[in-house]
Amino acid sequence: MLGNLKPQAPDKILALMGEFKADPRQGKIDLGVGVYKDADGHTPIMRAVLEAERRMLDSETTKTYSALSGEPDFLKAMGELVLGAGYKPELTAGLATVGGTGAIRQALELARMANPDLRIFVSDPTWPNHVSIMNFMGLPVETYRYFDNATRGVDFEGMKTDIARAKKGDVVLLHGCCHNPTGANLTIEEWAEVADILEKTGALPLIDLAYQGFGDGLEADAAGTRLIASRIPEVLIAASCSKNFGIYRERTGCLLAQCKDAATRDLTQGAMAFLNRQTYSFPPFHGAKIVATVLNSPDLRADWMAELEEVRGGMLRLREQLASELRALSGSDRFDFIASHRGMFSRLGAPADKVQRLKEEFAIYMVGDSRLNIAGLNDSTVPILARAIVEAGI
Ligand code: PMP
Repeated sequence: MLGNLKPQAPDKILALMGEFKADPRQGKIDLGVGVYKDADGHTPIMRAVLEAERRMLDSETTKTYSALSGEPDFLKAMGELVLGAGYKPELTAGLATVGGTGAIRQALELARMANPDLRIFVSDPTWPNHVSIMNFMGLPVETYRYFDNATRGVDFEGMKTDIARAKKGDVVLLHGCCHNPTGANLTIEEWAEVADILEKTGALPLIDLAYQGFGDGLEADAAGTRLIASRIPEVLIAASCSKNFGIYRERTGCLLAQCKDAATRDLTQGAMAFLNRQTYSFPPFHGAKIVATVLNSPDLRADWMAELEEVRGGMLRLREQLASELRALSGSDRFDFIASHRGMFSRLGAPADKVQRLKEEFAIYMVGDSRLNIAGLNDSTVPILARAIVEAGI
């Protein structure tokens, strides 16, 4: 029977990782996979995370099952981190999930349970796994214009026109900050206009918040999400702790569902717990406990915030350095967008053959759509990349 399975196309980014590994050239540069790396190319364990684990090891006495929806202290701490003062626990259902990916999957399952005829509107482009999951689930996907290849910024007029087509019963997927793969983001004034459209159409926003703290800071990166939650009664938020806590492999995330009233919240909470039960039963505990311990211990929280700021500042400096090298080498300001993009990624807007040339001639690996991971750079590789970009005629 298993022989009937069809071969699955490998994940492009994971395939690129394999190719990079097998490349024997000295000085090769990996700007592919979306993982934060320090100047030595290492993905460190954050100090507060290690200390939280030490404290957990000293205090935990059991590994018995925990709560089906996840630990209340984790969900409350995440609700506050994401929604700030606007968090309304009495109206917000929460679910611990297997990473941000699990949160997105459960959000889509939940939305489909509420409306089997829904359509999902996603930005063009978006994180490829969004579309892959939706296709696998058989959900109709509609795209909305997002990236303007001429300016490398957001095509906001196109976006507004396209999301206005979403109706009540549809879902509009929005990146809360640090858009993946483009690095181009909405201003807070634009978020307000998106809220106007959602208010008018009644479509349900699903906000994917995978990089809070990687763009303009923990508060600023949540501002769009908070604005939507303050204006729209029903909002789904899929939050990932992989990047901002550096706990990728612990698979930690949550789904927050802000509901219009307490009765709907209870109904939604029950449906969300049911979804965990059907999928994997209890969600992973360890990563969620790390996050709750860090966020609820003033000393660890302060240290985590300080280290996250170091990480964010480092990426911003690399952006500015790369933009200024490119300004000097190209004699133009056409790469200035790199300094105004935010998060780990920037889309260069280069055609596939030039991306291929960077790989073959210069041993510089980036995703085929010309997405580069800024965190894959350091002081000595920035000038190498800048020269290669100009020499490849990008
Ligand atoms: N959304 C976006 C936009 C992402 O880039 C990622 C991670 N690559 C995720 C969600 C999922 O993250 P996680 O590893 O927590 O599943």
